[in-house]
Amino acid sequence: MSGAFPPLREELRGIEPYGAPQLDVPVQLNVNENPYGPSPEAAADIARAVGEAAVSLNRYPDREFVALRAALATYLNSSGGSAIVPEMVWAANGSNEVMLQLLQAFGGPGRVALSFAPTYSMYPEYARDTLTEWVAGHRAEDFSLDLDAAGDLVLEKQPSVVLLPSPNNPTGTALPPEAVSMLCEAAASYEPGGVVVVDEAYGEFRRAGTPSALELLAVHRNLVVTRTMSKAFALAGARVGYLAADPAICDAIRVVRLPYHLSAVTQATALAALRHAPELLGRVDDLRVERDATVVWLREQGFEVADSDANFVLFGRFADRHAVWRGLVDRGVLIRETGPDGWLRVSIGTAGEMAAFRQALLETV
Ligand code: PMP
Repeated sequence: MSGAFPPLREELRGIEPYGAPQLDVPVQLNVNENPYGPSPEAAADIARAVGEAAVSLNRYPDREFVALRAALATYLNSSGGSAIVPEMVWAANGSNEVMLQLLQAFGGPGRVALSFAPTYSMYPEYARDTLTEWVAGHRAEDFSLDLDAAGDLVLEKQPSVVLLPSPNNPTGTALPPEAVSMLCEAAASYEPGGVVVVDEAYGEFRRAGTPSALELLAVHRNLVVTRTMSKAFALAGARVGYLAADPAICDAIRVVRLPYHLSAVTQATALAALRHAPELLGRVDDLRVERDATVVWLREQGFEVADSDANFVLFGRFADRHAVWRGLVDRGVLIRETGPDGWLRVSIGTAGEMAAFRQALLETV
């Protein structure tokens, strides 16, 4: 057997699979989960719904997940959107899969996907896996976007997909609607144009006065807003992400999706969870308060801290961030080494978990 076995694509050789370390320590603040699980009522309703689905598991699920699209449309209209109809909604196994499907439909050889670093580290992987050219512009020192430079880069590279997380991961920075509009117009100004994906995975955690891009859907046909049930909804384990966009965009994705990609169990879980949306989302305000307090505390200790509209905070700068990360792990607190060199990201947990984080950090640095 030659040393090249298995016959993996050349550019994938030697690459580690994506993913943060899953370590068995008591305080898990590394993947921006919601620390509060579903309420007992929501969990019981989900279990009942899954039980009902179980007796029909000999059948494939509804390929078009009609009921789920309708329920998601209703939720989106209560969460910054308006006039969103089921034909404008699409869902998949996490927003990661939604975005991979977007790249499958709109990327590909000879096409460009573009974002602005530092940003969500999965984006280049969707590009790589769909043989799409990856281009990364840069954010300013304060992690905001220089709009003139960003618009110029879009016009120069003519991407077919622009990925704009808002709030951005790992920095927590939200984009103003004017920025989204400007980039949508830029991406509509060349042939055949590009779709602008505003990734609102953390959209529900925005501070007051930072509007959702959902309100721009009526204005820009090339705008896609993605959301997830993994964060504010406290359902990361269920793997449900979704988007809102022009129906033509949803129809394009239907061409590339695998048939029955959303299992009957997933659909039943998501539908039951949406019936409990107010209680599942009920901890978002507590988490926002905890986040703002964490930003203030870290600044008081003299750290540099990025303003955050999300359920995590990026802070630094450390000469040896790995040593700090390790020190926290040794004290039972797992955070994330990500973002520009010297920075660390901590997800917002319960008050008790944040107290453990503060204590561990003080003991480490
Ligand atoms: N977008 C961003 C910016 C994220 O940080 C994440 C998860 N870390 C996702 C999308 C994907 O989340 P999921 O697949 O769980 O919806």
